[in-house]
Amino acid sequence: MSVDPFEPARRKMVEEQLAARGIRDRRVLEAFGRVPRHRFVPVELRDRAYGDHPLAIGEGQTISQPYMVACMTELLELGGGEKVLEVGTGSGYQTAVLLELGAEVLTVEVEPELAAGARERLEGLGYRGARFRVGDGSLGWREESPFDRVIVTAGAPSLPVSLTGQLGEGGLMAIPVGGEEEQDLLLVRRREGRVERRRICGCVFVKLRGEEGW
Ligand code: SAH
Repeated sequence: MSVDPFEPARRKMVEEQLAARGIRDRRVLEAFGRVPRHRFVPVELRDRAYGDHPLAIGEGQTISQPYMVACMTELLELGGGEKVLEVGTGSGYQTAVLLELGAEVLTVEVEPELAAGARERLEGLGYRGARFRVGDGSLGWREESPFDRVIVTAGAPSLPVSLTGQLGEGGLMAIPVGGEEEQDLLLVRRREGRVERRRICGCVFVKLRGEEGW
């Protein structure tokens, strides 16, 4: 078996950035311990892959800070087998985390180069079970709805009605909503036909573009 030189940095990230700051779900922590984050950043940034910050991934986009990815993932309460819509494939890192948790992932990315790169990377790492689409994810993926979970990793000016409409009964959605510079991370729940929302924390994401974005 080959030795991963990044394993100590990854373990430190899980302990100091995630567990110490309140990420409790063991399965989530274990998933972060397995996904090789350094493979999702440009080669010249590999040494910084496990640092406590976002990193540039090309096309003006970023891979989110590990803690933010973990926080959103934990909010989704994934037990395995859920059908998850991800908006903003980016590097594919969040996709890999969702797959580690046993989700069936449908992921939409507006930038063709990023989508192609993520697909190739995930397949190269042996991740199976994701479906990819290039297009405007602010409108969701209607033919595949309803979804048990929706995760949006770009900031929206307001809650996109297409996405709340594609969330199934009892479903959960994590989404940053707010201004161009900073947003509130919202947890949205569809219960008995109603859409409830709860503010979790402040956050900073790149802009969600598209018809129901900026
Ligand atoms: N989850 C990613 C981080 C994504 S950054 C990761 O783990 O690396 C946000 C991504 O959302 C960018 O790649 C950006 O191109 C994409 N994006 C922005 N607007 C979008 C839209 N309307 N539909 C789909 N993707 C969008």
